[in-house]
Parts: sequence; C-alpha cells; structure tokens
Amino acid sequence: MTYSAASGRYDTMTYNRSGRSGLRIPAISLGLWHNFGGINVYENGRAMVRRAFDLGITHFDLANNYGPPAGSAEESFGQILKQDMLPYRDEMIISTKAGYYMWPGPYGEWGSKKNLIASLDQSLKRMQLDYVDIYYHHRPDPNTPLEETMAALDLVVRQGKALYVGISNYRPEEARKASQILKKLGTPCVIHQPNYSMMSRWIEDGLQDVLDEEGIGSIVFSPLQGGLLTDRYLNGIADDSRAAGPSVFMSRDAINEGLVNKVRQLDELAKSRGQKLSQMALAWVLRGGRVTSALIGASKVSQIEDAMGALSVPAFTDEELKKIDSILS
Ligand code: NDP
Repeated sequence: MTYSAASGRYDTMTYNRSGRSGLRIPAISLGLWHNFGGINVYENGRAMVRRAFDLGITHFDLANNYGPPAGSAEESFGQILKQDMLPYRDEMIISTKAGYYMWPGPYGEWGSKKNLIASLDQSLKRMQLDYVDIYYHHRPDPNTPLEETMAALDLVVRQGKALYVGISNYRPEEARKASQILKKLGTPCVIHQPNYSMMSRWIEDGLQDVLDEEGIGSIVFSPLQGGLLTDRYLNGIADDSRAAGPSVFMSRDAINEGLVNKVRQLDELAKSRGQKLSQMALAWVLRGGRVTSALIGASKVSQIEDAMGALSVPAFTDEELKKIDSILS
C-alpha cells in the first residue's frame, strides 16, 4: 500500500539545535546498524522507518559498513526511500559515515581522502541519493594527518554530496583539533557521535566541554547499551534478542547475573517513576539538555514507540540520579 505519513507527526517530538548550527534534529533518532541488513526481514525494517517517521523521527543514521553484509543496510534503506519516503526527502536528515573497514586494500578504511571520497560515492549509489544530510568520519585515524581527513569532509560539502559534516568516536582533544581545522576551511563540524549511556559515561570527562566550547552538537549512540538498559534481559536471553543473535558486538556471555541484578534495580527505579527502564535510560542521556539526540536502535516497531515515552517523563530528582549512580557504581 502507498505510504502516506501521519498528519500529526510533528505534534509530540522535540527538535534540538545541533550546537551552534542551523540544523535541528529530533531528540530521538533511529540508527540502522542492526536489523536492516541483508540478513534481516526487509518488511520489518520498512515498517520501523515508516513508524519512526510518523512519530516525528526525522533523522536516520547509517554507515557504509552497516548490514550484514556490509553495505546492505544502505541498500535496504535506499529501497525503503524509493518505495515510501522520497516524497518526504526534504523532511528527512539522512547520515552516513566512513572510517571502519569496508573494502580490501589500503583505501578501504581509516581517514584518507581517497577512502572518504570513494566511500561516500558508494554510499550514495547504494541509497540511490544525490546527497546525504550529514557525512561523518567514523573513527579517528592515528596515521593520516587530521588536515587531510577534514579537507575530505570540506570537499564533499563543496561538491554538494553532503550538507553538513560530523565526527564520531573522537576523544576530546582530537575533536577540538578537528573542529578548529574545519572552521578554518569554512565547513564547521556540526555534530559529534560518541557512545553515551548510564553505563558508559566517558563523554562527561572533557568531551562535552569541548563540544560546548566549539559549538558542536552531540548525538549519542547506544543509549540503551545495546538493549541491556531495557527489560530485554530481566528474565533470561530471548531468542530474538541481540545477545542471542549473530552480532559480534554483544554475546550471551555479556549477560551475567551481577549485571542483570543491577538492571533489575534500575528497572524498579524506572517503575517508581511510572516508566519503562528503556524510557528512563533515554531520559537520562537527554537530561539537562547537553545531548542533542539519543540515537537508538530497534528490532521492532513497538521499541520505537516505547522510546517516545522518554520525552514525556518527569525530570529526575537529585535523589533518583544518586540512586542510579549507586546502583551502577
Ligand atoms: P541501543 O543502545 O538503543 O540498542 C538498541 C537495541 O536495544 C535494539 O536493537 C533492541 O535490541 C533493544 N531495544 C531497543 N528498544 C527497546 C525496548 N523498548 N525494549 C526492549 N529492548 C529494546 O543502540 P544501538 O547499539 O542499536 O545503536 C544505535 C545506533 O547508534 C546504531 O544503529 C548506529 O546508527 C549508531 N552507532 C554508531 C556507532 C559509531 O561508532 N558511530 C557505533 C554503534 C552504534 P533487540 O535486538 O535485542 O531487540
């Protein structure tokens, strides 16, 4: 059936400005790292993109290597765009990245100009797009001069292949240096994509200050710690969960009794606040307004619907924040 986007799609989402740029992105964004590859059910991914957009999630995050197989998430997304979303292209922020291993030989990963330019051309072909909204360097490259990598980001904007550029997984001082180079080139860095969750707080140790000083927004990945900060593993490891699946990033061994005990206590706290643990985890990364967007993954439409509940919850009391810290200490 022809897709027609929900008329109320902008009624409940909050849109936050990314740093000091003109770009506003939804407080909740959807990433296509898992569950959109060639090994997954296409119609499920398609339903998730449509539902997300109906809920005001205008931002979809990809990378060259998402799948598996690598590249197939971009292909599936391109197909979804073609089938359903092209009439809404101007209402969408689509990002992709290069930097991790993508093809053999010296040019298929890291941060050379050769890698970044070739990879974006490949991504645009897979998604059947003329441009992406945000192009990221996916991880710092210790062996390529930062000036070269940043010049590649500047170039794709000048070529009209990307509107904005960002960096991902850069540590505080690398991020500051990258930002200063990009400013000189006239293509400011608008966004940084680091990992952040109740269980992974490294960005509080310097990176957030750098981003504030440089006027860069942040979209934080894996705010649910890959599903750990949800009700997923409270009663064992379900067959359809990430830990039970083929992902090399989360295995059954990661789910141990000590961890699940902590998660149970967090779940109790969430219940006392009248919400699900997943909603509390998202509200936690968004608390205080320092994070521009929480970048979730999902395997089901209902998980995307759950995420929206994070936006209508009471602010944390100091006592609740302390309790979270003590559970996880
Ligand atoms: P999350 O921490 O949000 O984990 C998502 C997983 O949590 C889902 O796949 C699902 O797992 C589970 N989940 C989500 N909602 C619920 C819910 N309501 N109830 C129960 N379980 C739930 O993020 P991801 O790790 O998936 O990363 C999100 C995105 O961040 C990626 O798609 C990608 O775009 C980006 N990313 C970027 C990286 C980078 O280096 N820049 C690295 C990693 C991610 P299940 O499958 O078990 O149902």
